[in-house]
Amino acid sequence: MQAIAGSNHPCPQWERVLAEPAFEQQYGTEEQCRAVVIASRWPKGFECPACGGRQYSLVTTRDLYQCTSCRRQTSPIAGTIFASTHLPLRIWFRAIYHLTQTKQGISSIELGRRLGVTQTTAWKIKHKLKQVMLERDANKRLIGRVEIDDAYLGGERSGGKRGRGAPGKTPFVAAVETTPEGKPVRLKLRRVTSFCDKAMSSFAKRSLDPNCSVVSDGLRCFASIADVGCAHEVIKTGSGPKAARTPAFKWVNTALGNIKAAITGTYRAISSQHVPRYLAEFEYRFNRRYDLASMIPRLAWAAVRTTPMPYRLLKLAECCA
Ligand SMILES: [Zn+2]
Repeated sequence: MQAIAGSNHPCPQWERVLAEPAFEQQYGTEEQCRAVVIASRWPKGFECPACGGRQYSLVTTRDLYQCTSCRRQTSPIAGTIFASTHLPLRIWFRAIYHLTQTKQGISSIELGRRLGVTQTTAWKIKHKLKQVMLERDANKRLIGRVEIDDAYLGGERSGGKRGRGAPGKTPFVAAVETTPEGKPVRLKLRRVTSFCDKAMSSFAKRSLDPNCSVVSDGLRCFASIADVGCAHEVIKTGSGPKAARTPAFKWVNTALGNIKAAITGTYRAISSQHVPRYLAEFEYRFNRRYDLASMIPRLAWAAVRTTPMPYRLLKLAECCA
């Protein structure tokens, strides 16, 4: 494991965020947000979920589409995450705005304040959107040159021992795809059960293209990523701050430094079962950093295609983030 660099880590290039007035102009009213949701749900025009019919009439009093063939009435938000609260869509879009346009993430207390809802409601909205981000990127594999490293989240402030295998920490793998010249392209962050051969082999199968070429330090389990058929080069780094500056691992170290800054700057603590969603949020933003404004309609598009996870599953334990 590389020691995570301190505050002087370099930053990958990020595009400027969408300014709040521009956001308000595009997504400030309920009608505008509803139009985005409808266009995402039915890009080729209305399609009845019961019979596939295309003709409809609007039940304007209840915002429903009624199929001309079978008379079934459908809400454009039925079965999507937007239906799970009674909040106006413009509140959801504001949440999407804050979640996608802040590099550091946003705590549910702060989000609640900005949306004018309780912290519990803000937490629900945020985790439902994070779940969309997680499912959206779950099956995309990294290709080309990949820097990989092991890391941990949580536990740092509980006074436990530091480093590999410390109790209370959630292990995860960080992998950055770069261009052949070493410029960062995409990031993948995955929680693993532990740093063992089996977990690493299964990580590689889900996350790496067989044609990629991976560099890692000498941690023994990394040898198992070759199970997927990719090339694997071990670069000896030693340990401590010197290891963090090894050029071969520049971007995976940078990503880890940024994650650490974001997590410690924004959240008090993250419980283990929520870690995948926090990682997914970070990964989602990083991978779309060149087109920040388009993240809003793209996340809305993904959201209408993601089956909402019930609150009881979302919140398996208390979380204070
Ligand atoms: Zn129908």
